[in-house]
Amino acid sequence: MIVALAFFACAASERAAAPPPPDLVVVSVETFRADRARIGQAGSPMPRLSAFAASAQRYEAAWSPAPWTLPSMVSLLTGLSAAEHGVTRGELSLNPEVETLAETLQAAGYETMFFGVNSLFTASRGLEQGFSTYRAWPSLNGNDLQREIERALDARDPKRPLLLWAHYFEPHCPYEAAQPFRGREEPTWGEETAPTLDQAQFDQLGRCFQLTDPGELPVLQVGRYLREYDAELRGADLLLGDLLVSLERRGLKDAVIVVVGDHGESFWEHGDFGHGRTLYEEVLHVPLLVRWPGGAEAGAVTTPVSTAMVPALLRHAAGLEPRPALDGVVLAGTDDEGRALRAGRLGDQKLILDARTGAVTAFDLAADPNERAPLAAPDPTLLDAVRAEAARRPTHPPSASPLAAPVDAQLRALGYKP
Ligand SMILES: [Zn+2]
Repeated sequence: MIVALAFFACAASERAAAPPPPDLVVVSVETFRADRARIGQAGSPMPRLSAFAASAQRYEAAWSPAPWTLPSMVSLLTGLSAAEHGVTRGELSLNPEVETLAETLQAAGYETMFFGVNSLFTASRGLEQGFSTYRAWPSLNGNDLQREIERALDARDPKRPLLLWAHYFEPHCPYEAAQPFRGREEPTWGEETAPTLDQAQFDQLGRCFQLTDPGELPVLQVGRYLREYDAELRGADLLLGDLLVSLERRGLKDAVIVVVGDHGESFWEHGDFGHGRTLYEEVLHVPLLVRWPGGAEAGAVTTPVSTAMVPALLRHAAGLEPRPALDGVVLAGTDDEGRALRAGRLGDQKLILDARTGAVTAFDLAADPNERAPLAAPDPTLLDAVRAEAARRPTHPPSASPLAAPVDAQLRALGYKP
């Protein structure tokens, strides 16, 4: 009888209380190029993620704020553009005075956990701000990453709302697809029109990208690189599918789940391999999926957005602020390897500004999605917005400290020159 009374008292108090804040999960994926992942489309190399996307909002024109990991991840964690946080080179760290999403949620009672694979995450660049659990590895395969996450989830207090952030290294180079796709490249779209490199161009590729056939013969056909990257996507799809099932089994069925790329990858579309050095669609256009509880609002969102809106979206999901508006100019930038490039998108028009020379190149992405035919006259509103971004300085400047020698060496091996 006493037991029954206690049960009813508990149930009544739960009915009277406001609904608990939702659990929040962000799965960020390295080097995740939207037009090759083709999530939700016929022939996608990612059937599991496509099945997940059927119950999610699919942002079909999402830009990474920067074309490489560090500035992009700082934007994903703070909501600031690359110019606003200023962490645009490998030796820079986020200013501790900037309030990150994890800090906001931690103050609101959330348990905050980060698990990420990339040497940059081990370099104390400020990404750890606000995470009560912050685990980073320079390399770890996705299966092992999942085991680490599961161990932490099994040990957590389920009564507290959770922010879980998982960053997968697949499909970053070197292209070594997860089993069972390793060494099983298949013909893929775009390879018939992909160029062939000459030996000098091959020699200039970062070591991370160079493919060789038996006998150390260099692979010069760019189509073969596309096949290898797509095999990586197939492997990443298995890993991400396993993670999503595992999260559901651990009580996160009703979590708000975000899947997002940190940037894309170039395959010589504009004379470059890899990422970090240009602002073309192949490095900026990334998948962004938001699965709301019960599959609410599932469907395509065609409005261009920056993935830097993820923190505002999650603060909204946690009941902390109104939903962010999706209109206006979307911005991106890079200062990698001494460049100073800024890009903006308004509707279908895109503009790239070289802030050092003042050169402006604009494209109509609806008529010219491959960015081959620059427009004669850019949209003045867009040009003003990109110039303002180029002139912007961080409110809270980043601090500089050299990368530790091992991290520097690891980054160079991955094709960066920090
Ligand atoms: Zn990255």
